[in-house]
Amino acid sequence: MRPLYFDYNATTPILPRVYEAMRPYLTEHFGNPGSGHLWGLKAKRGAELAREQVAGLINCAPGEVYFTSCATESDNWALLGLGLARPGAHVVISAIEHPAIVECAAYLERCGARVSRVGVDEQGLVDPAAVRAACASGADLISVMLANNETGALQPVAEIAAWARKQGIPVHSDAAQAVGKVPVDVAALGVDLLTIAGHKLYAPKGVGALYVRQGLELAPLLWGGGQERGRRSGTENVPYMVALGEACALAAEDLPGEMARQRELGRVFLEGLGALDVDWRLYSERAPRLPGTAAVGFKGLNAGDIISGLVVLDVGVSAGAACHGDTTVVSHVLAAMGVPLEYAQGTIRFSWGRPTSQDDVRELVRRLGQALGALA
Ligand code: PLP
Repeated sequence: MRPLYFDYNATTPILPRVYEAMRPYLTEHFGNPGSGHLWGLKAKRGAELAREQVAGLINCAPGEVYFTSCATESDNWALLGLGLARPGAHVVISAIEHPAIVECAAYLERCGARVSRVGVDEQGLVDPAAVRAACASGADLISVMLANNETGALQPVAEIAAWARKQGIPVHSDAAQAVGKVPVDVAALGVDLLTIAGHKLYAPKGVGALYVRQGLELAPLLWGGGQERGRRSGTENVPYMVALGEACALAAEDLPGEMARQRELGRVFLEGLGALDVDWRLYSERAPRLPGTAAVGFKGLNAGDIISGLVVLDVGVSAGAACHGDTTVVSHVLAAMGVPLEYAQGTIRFSWGRPTSQDDVRELVRRLGQALGALA
């Protein structure tokens, strides 16, 4: 049986073009970009081209892009870099953030910061008015993700940031699930900090980036040799930086067309689901969503059982957020949305990507029908 991967929000494969761009930097261009000789200069040039490519995709200056080891590091850097540097800081986050923000904010709290958590409506959307209310006594940072990893719901970050800018409150957005999937323009969004994850857009795991608006004061997370203009020490991972740059260049080339294609795959999927004899609901149905994500609750079923049924049919999906493992505990996102337990416990996240075809989607629906049929 041909394996069907529908877990692109968990991670993506490295595309051949990305791999080919990276390969010479793993072998012949192995130099340390901090070295002034031929080998170092070659590596440095690769890293700087990558910085330009990332900047090109999110519309900022290359000097505002800082490479990190992952989205978790970028998220932690944004929160701790601002939060720890200001004793007694007040940080406002949404209730549906990834654990890289949730857990980091909890740590900040233990360090003496005040953290406010803003809820979402039943569509999984943050209300900008609720963010404004949470900032009534002033705030040092607002962090609201751009696309939720479980539902794909796109948050009103631009509206929040437009208001925050007038108040002088810096805004961070975790765009790990958005960059490369929908247009992300930091100037249009008006954010001060933005997180990028390499492995969600066909670059390897172990590389990310943080956009830091020019002029924003942000304390380093890693101290040492002063790489990344003194803000993120540690010898640069040039091959992975090159890969992330190439992945961003690729996304910039055909984003509207690929988005339309993936939206159509979503339509085919939901049409197929509609023809199955099961009770299900699509989360964030009326919210703007990522084109390649559909989180579906199957009434009265257990997500673990559905996944087990799909695993034997060589289908890869996830229950809730993959980063939490394949547990059927209702996620904090579904809980914040107030999803009834009978649907929440049977929630499966389907996510597709560039290599996915219509044929794959039809075959997914067929095997899903088989797996659900066995549970009835
Ligand atoms: N933020 C979001 C929205 C994510 O979806 C993820 C991963 O799933 C992360 C952050 C963390 O990414 P990483 O595990 O690569 O650090």
